[in-house]
Amino acid sequence: MDQGSTLRVAVTGAAGRMGRETIRAILAASDLQLVAAVDRERVGESVDSVVGAPSDGVAIAAEWTAEAARTQPDVLVDFTHGSAAAAHARHALQSGIAPVVGATGLTDSEVAELEALSRQLDVPGMLVPNFAIGAVLMMEFARMAARWMPHAEIVELHHDQKRDAPSGTACRTAEKIARGRAQSVSPQVPELVRAEGARGGVVADVAVHSVRLPGLLAHQMVVFGGTGECLTVRHDSMDRSSFMPGVLLAIRRVRTLTGWHEGLEGLLFWER
Ligand code: NAD
Repeated sequence: MDQGSTLRVAVTGAAGRMGRETIRAILAASDLQLVAAVDRERVGESVDSVVGAPSDGVAIAAEWTAEAARTQPDVLVDFTHGSAAAAHARHALQSGIAPVVGATGLTDSEVAELEALSRQLDVPGMLVPNFAIGAVLMMEFARMAARWMPHAEIVELHHDQKRDAPSGTACRTAEKIARGRAQSVSPQVPELVRAEGARGGVVADVAVHSVRLPGLLAHQMVVFGGTGECLTVRHDSMDRSSFMPGVLLAIRRVRTLTGWHEGLEGLLFWER
């Protein structure tokens, strides 16, 4: 599409919590046009009734591949789950549509395949485990702190409908901490673990504790321990609107990128 013209956007997972919030944000943006909304639920219903905002006649379709061919969007935003998201993004790349994957739970091999396909077909794409700007800053602060305070554990807290654990954000934070550390760390004493999992799961040599409770949305603390001091970096998403500035940024910028990008960092810190 030409710079400055309207971007045509499709959403998969359109009837879900994130999909509905994303559609409302797209409908409110004058430079974006919602052209397709796909979900296996609420098929045939108008988007107007699903999100409670006028959508210019878009209805929920059942099948992404047929809808991609019919509407030919510039960008796909996916908020389904794991392997469904990988399949949607794969088809988008093969159709010249830039995918922005917000769903979590993709396997390492699915991500590697998307990365290779993006490079091979020269179609840009993004996988963004957390669209909240504050969460991206939290991860960067954690990476910086790890150099001087390598002893760190992550506590991530989410609503009880979340399927994957640890969260994509927690895994990404752990990898950043591992990269930021100037030295490796190991337990200070041999540990006697009375209940399996009590010390959390280990990602990139960082213990991660996952809490799932009703009433929570998406929260994370990274706790660093040093000599006689502790540092806690904490982020809270209060509601799903917290993700929308990042979702809109990714939609608007993904087609200006080359290749496959993980996270919003490239857009927030490295691009000028
Ligand atoms: P949800 O269960 O409310 O919505 C998922 C929707 O996807 C449902 O409507 C479901 O019917 C649909 N769906 C699933 N498989 C499908 C398929 N094969 N074809 C068509 N539709 C399909 O979940 P949610 O809370 O909206 O979260 C969606 C995803 O986004 C999860 O993976 C979650 O972890 C992730 N998430 C990411 C961020 C981020 O910032 N990147 C933030 C919140 C949630």
